[in-house]
Amino acid sequence: MSPSSGKPRVVVVGGGLGGLWATLRIAEAGFPVDLFSLFEVKRSHSVCAQGGINACLDTKGEHDSVWQHIVDTLKGGEYLANQPPVKAMCEDAPGLIRTFERMGVTFSRTPEGLLDQRLFGGVKNRRTCFAGASTGQQLMHGVDQQVRRLEDLGQVSKYEWWEFLSLVKDADGAARGIVAMDLKSMEVRAFRADAVVLASGGMGQVYAPKTTCSTNSTGVAASRCYQQGAWFANAEFFQFHPTAMLGHDKNRLMSEAARGEGGRVWVPRRPGDARPPRSIPEAERFYFLEEFFPAYGNTVARDEASRAIWRVTRDLGLGIGGGDRVYLDLTHLDRAFVAKRLGAILDIYRKFSGTDPLDEPMQIFPAAHYAMGGLWVDFEKDAVTGSMKAVSPRNHATSIPGLYACGECDYAYHGANRLGANSLLSASYSGRVAGEAVASYLKGLGGWATQLPEGLYEAEAARQQAINRRLMGCQGDEGPYALHRELGELMTTKVGVVRDNRELDEADAALQDLAARCERVNLGEASTWANQTLAYARQVRDMVQLALVITRSARARDECRGAHHKPEFALPLPAGKGLGDPEYDTYIRRWRDNNTRWLKTTIAEHGPEGPSIRYQEVDTSVLAPEQPRDYR
Ligand SMILES: Cc1cc2nc3c(=O)[nH]c(=O)nc-3n(C[C@H](O)[C@H](O)[C@H](O)COP(=O)(O)OP(=O)(O)OC[C@H]3O[C@@H](n4cnc5c(N)ncnc54)[C@H](O)[C@@H]3O)c2cc1C
Repeated sequence: MSPSSGKPRVVVVGGGLGGLWATLRIAEAGFPVDLFSLFEVKRSHSVCAQGGINACLDTKGEHDSVWQHIVDTLKGGEYLANQPPVKAMCEDAPGLIRTFERMGVTFSRTPEGLLDQRLFGGVKNRRTCFAGASTGQQLMHGVDQQVRRLEDLGQVSKYEWWEFLSLVKDADGAARGIVAMDLKSMEVRAFRADAVVLASGGMGQVYAPKTTCSTNSTGVAASRCYQQGAWFANAEFFQFHPTAMLGHDKNRLMSEAARGEGGRVWVPRRPGDARPPRSIPEAERFYFLEEFFPAYGNTVARDEASRAIWRVTRDLGLGIGGGDRVYLDLTHLDRAFVAKRLGAILDIYRKFSGTDPLDEPMQIFPAAHYAMGGLWVDFEKDAVTGSMKAVSPRNHATSIPGLYACGECDYAYHGANRLGANSLLSASYSGRVAGEAVASYLKGLGGWATQLPEGLYEAEAARQQAINRRLMGCQGDEGPYALHRELGELMTTKVGVVRDNRELDEADAALQDLAARCERVNLGEASTWANQTLAYARQVRDMVQLALVITRSARARDECRGAHHKPEFALPLPAGKGLGDPEYDTYIRRWRDNNTRWLKTTIAEHGPEGPSIRYQEVDTSVLAPEQPRDYR
């Protein structure tokens, strides 16, 4: 057992921005925290974030406003996010940036010393604060230092290289601790806690290798909570980032900042044009984002940009060399400016392709990037302000009492499509809110986990040890690496940028088959020390369960909204028509009718037949969904 005193303790799973902020708030409120991470906390995937973090500071004098940030976020997500939490997040964003500054984060500045801000997708104002093209790393350093201070004071204990395996629930079904595995000694152990915060990040590995996410973004911690009864919301909304560099092992993100700073996306107008890109004259280039979306151009929202790339490559056959790739061009920009603002991504591209984006346009294609869906979390609305009520114990509480979720593993802020640079914001903000909520929750608890019988913890640890023993002893004919590759290919081809119900049914059947095959593995590794194959085999099983949630949620939603696109149910904007035109008015009527049916949160619940799907109303009390997005 973990150290047990008379005081309530909290377990936080995940040491990215979400987990660190939650830890900070809980520990500062006086409750000791046990912080778990698959590896050193400071290496959490948040460090990979490149382009920036949104907050309305209007340092560019563009008359930007917090209200516009709220509107852009809600509309960008096609109204699917509950609105009070979004309102609260955007209102808090400027203060959060000031806090990061006071923590010592070295944001890029203008020559006058103001915080610099750049343009990002789906907006018209420069609202994105950044630190070159390594913003996530700088933010992480800032919060990590604060958590280290509390670690030094004995308020935080870190369990690095420990993997969360399951929750321990008491007789009332409340989370009262976790079972975790030491990834070096393979010890499986139960930890008592009075509340658990899950901040385990994204799940791009479900689409591996065509994902910008790291090998740790498996989503399995959330999957395990879901399989123990937590609701999973809006799983069908998975963002494909339009500009990822292609790679055999993985796809690497070329930040939206590249377009925000003036990068242009294009293909040769002539199919199969094999000339080197810089020898193709302007008139023979198709800057399709600028033509399709003149009002936003290259910084149109990600879902639209990805579908446009899909269209020019798959439907029009204009991909470079006839394949799945288009140009992202920075070569027309001032070299020193680009090197200064985007140095970190230029280095990545040079290193992995051997060409310099300052000399040659980059070749890119959409890749799985960000889960808008995640564990369902609650909120309490403030009746006076219409925002989320500060420090309510309901905020970020999952459907399992005592289990909270924050960061990319929750579903709360981005609706059907996340705007660029809103995720570092939501991860940090939600971590802070979840931490404050947990502190309130603990104050209302009757008794502590230290008083619960030892048998409760021993039983859950024994259940997890039995899974390990079974997998270690299994002499099947399947390998976890091959199963994972099959999973990624299946999801990329059948549950990707464009979807149809026949393929989704095929994916569902194939996933059920994969789930059965995951039980017939042969690890080929008997080591009882640092047995990565055992940990990986467990992860693949739980990724398949998550893939089933994504697929079934997608199958059930017969419409197009944000990142979820089924052409069969598309409601295209009438070309060249706007407000006041009868054709446009008819379109608006159909769009509103569709909202009556589908403007709902998808909730998946685990059961013996896999996920069952139902829906929940969305709170649209801040901005009535009266106008569709129109980036033309
Ligand atoms: C390449 C890239 C660039 C990006 N750039 C931007 C950007 O410029 N702006 C922006 O707003 N967003 C960006 N994003 C998105 C953003 O970085 C993430 O959504 C955000 O950082 C997630 O933070 P998090 O705290 O939820 O999770 P993470 O930072 O991913 O941390 C997850 C933590 O959970 C732990 N963990 C996971 N599973 C377990 C387990 N089973 N047991 C124990 N611990 C576990 C991990 O060890 C880790 O500590 C980018 C994403 C990518 C992939």
